Amino acid sequence: MSTTTKRTLSERLEEGRQALESLSEAVSKIEKTEDWFAWLAKLSQLRSYSARNVIYLLGQWEDRQEANPDLPDLSYPASFSAWKALGRSVKKGERGLAVFVPVTVVDQDAEPGDDGKKPRKLIGFGVSRRVFDVSQTEGDVEVSPFSTTLLAGTPDEQMWIDLERFAGSKGFSVAHTEHLNSRTSNGECSHTNRTLRIRPSRPRQSQIKTLAHEIGHMLLHGDRETGHGRDLREVEAESFAYLVCRLYGFASDEYSVGYVGGWSDGDPKVVMKVAERVLGAFGELVDAVTPTEAVPEG
Ligand SMILES: [Zn+2]
Repeated sequence: MSTTTKRTLSERLEEGRQALESLSEAVSKIEKTEDWFAWLAKLSQLRSYSARNVIYLLGQWEDRQEANPDLPDLSYPASFSAWKALGRSVKKGERGLAVFVPVTVVDQDAEPGDDGKKPRKLIGFGVSRRVFDVSQTEGDVEVSPFSTTLLAGTPDEQMWIDLERFAGSKGFSVAHTEHLNSRTSNGECSHTNRTLRIRPSRPRQSQIKTLAHEIGHMLLHGDRETGHGRDLREVEAESFAYLVCRLYGFASDEYSVGYVGGWSDGDPKVVMKVAERVLGAFGELVDAVTPTEAVPEG
């Protein structure tokens, strides 16, 4: 089992294709908005992996949990060597989890690069068995998985301060005004004027959440190349806001689920793309606000 058998290129691609197919099946089961948010929250917890790999990892882990209900939730997968570097080792006999790996070949049609070699091109994905959850490892060094409630207990105002500063770092100012293009909206994002406008007559919590939503638009919809219409843009912005609120321990489920109530597009390709985009933007924000994070109490 542990020795790697050499597989042909076509075998590897076929294996990858089948795994991707089962993935699409899992994604197409996300029908309700609640499921989408719950799923996104899980994805954000394992944010160093692509959405594709997280879904794949969670699926494999769920199968194991079904067989062994005592198994904790998957929280921190890493490769054998990454665990070694972190000062922990994979327990004897543990089975690794498979992840997708890109399969590339030399692009014979391409011009050689500066190094005289022809570049490689992606021809598909294969799978490899090589990551282990923290619960499959042992060692004296404690590691804490990335937490999506890093700032739990922090007053909401900290979220506003962080978001306003983050917008500023991207060249966007935040303004309070009742003069919005739509009479009913809580806020808006203008890429032309590089401004995020928030309606001041709304309750403070709503203003803070709206700022997160507009920052979602700021990060994700500056160009027109997203290829999807207004509905999906709103899903992306609100999904981003949902993750940010969660990061600050500020529940927005009720509002967000209602907002994205129109979510019914079951096309796994679209869902996957949206997830990747939202997680990318969220990762960018997390990286920017983490240095100023409050030290959790206790
Ligand atoms: Zn919006």
